[in-house]
Amino acid sequence: MTEYRRAWLPGATWLQTTPEPMEDRFLVTCPYCGEDVEIYLEPDVEGSLVQDCEVCCNPWQLRIWTNGDDRHVTAARADGSE
Ligand SMILES: [Zn+2]
Repeated sequence: MTEYRRAWLPGATWLQTTPEPMEDRFLVTCPYCGEDVEIYLEPDVEGSLVQDCEVCCNPWQLRIWTNGDDRHVTAARADGSE
């Protein structure tokens, strides 16, 4: 099934393309080492989860939420440090 989103905000760019229908890729910036790391999340994943940084192995507290058709991911430190 191919479905094109028709919603287009003037001046906006496509934030995300998803060639694979079964998974979404996101780029998050590690709050520890500052590297941009691409992560893969299943389409039905939402809420909070802990995942280790692939670069420095520190734990992220990931928050995933959906706003309309868009998904957003933020990574914060899961060990409570600043
Ligand atoms: Zn890191």
